[in-house]
Amino acid sequence: MRTVSACTLEYAEVPRPKVATDEAVVQIEHVTLCGTDLHIFEDDYTSELPLIQGHELSGTVVEVADDVAGVAVGDRVAVDPLIACGECATCRKGRGHVCPNLMVFGCYCDGGFVEYLSVSADRLHRIPDGLPTELGAVAEPTAISLESVTRGRAAPGETALVLGCGPIGALATLALHDLGATVIAADTVPDRLDLVREFGASHTLLVDAASRFPTAQLAEVLRDDSSDGPDLVIEATGVPASLANALDVVAPGGRVVQVGISTRPTGFPLKVIPFKEVELLGSRNSQGLIPEALKLIARHQDTVRSLLTHRFAVNELDQAFATMRATDQRVGKVLIDMPAKVQV
Ligand SMILES: [Zn+2]
Ligand SMILES: [Zn+2]
Repeated sequence: MRTVSACTLEYAEVPRPKVATDEAVVQIEHVTLCGTDLHIFEDDYTSELPLIQGHELSGTVVEVADDVAGVAVGDRVAVDPLIACGECATCRKGRGHVCPNLMVFGCYCDGGFVEYLSVSADRLHRIPDGLPTELGAVAEPTAISLESVTRGRAAPGETALVLGCGPIGALATLALHDLGATVIAADTVPDRLDLVREFGASHTLLVDAASRFPTAQLAEVLRDDSSDGPDLVIEATGVPASLANALDVVAPGGRVVQVGISTRPTGFPLKVIPFKEVELLGSRNSQGLIPEALKLIARHQDTVRSLLTHRFAVNELDQAFATMRATDQRVGKVLIDMPAKVQV
């Protein structure tokens, strides 16, 4: 399946890839969709169309190159979709997830809406026994959430505020709760707050997007006699005003992690960063956290499954994107089953 132009899909026969040196061929079984997929589908992204989409992938290894060790035919795997160049100064420092030449399956090069994908074996991660293959597809967004928590150096006993309770914010809440932090989560949508309580938020704040945050009532939740604010704020909305709020409410000396993405400029008074000695940290993709993500999902299978609100076969992909655009229902992660018997 490829997206040939804005909102137009085409199904086509493509040759089965030949396994190359260092690679293994994966039969893709499940793909989950995120906001990036919808932007690509609508041609509102930096990638070039036509493109075979799909970057949150899981499946089973069906062929392995002779020189590959550690991956075997029959292994159920999650696919790390990042392809760093491996040669630039950033890669040489071990930070390939922010490589300036980074390719991502399904975003900047053809991805996972295919029956078979040949992948460098070091990008495949075994799905733990007892964890269904379909939940392995969620390892990629979970790793993005884990990266934000790792960048923020979250520690047990700390208080963290998560701004935005979409899948990335909900999975960050889960990761924070799992490591023993107290989590306050905020969103503008009441349904999302119900969900994030299941993910471990002990307090939730319904934020009015139109008014300044925090109001006096919200400030009471965020500050008390023992605290001048959360030690860590994860900004997962990408709304510039939300970053300003994060800097306002974080405790002096605290950390703010920006994981939400936007091309819009920010407009807050700069002095809050030096006056409070705030550490403002960016977070993108993940630095090898898919194995840890799979373990986190395995520990909280039922919770993570509750993120999957819709399920379609690959030949219903049009319908899946239409569902993601609809505003009349809550859409969490959309799961696509592969392969379907597709008429081409
Ligand atoms: Zn994604
Ligand atoms: Zn590089």
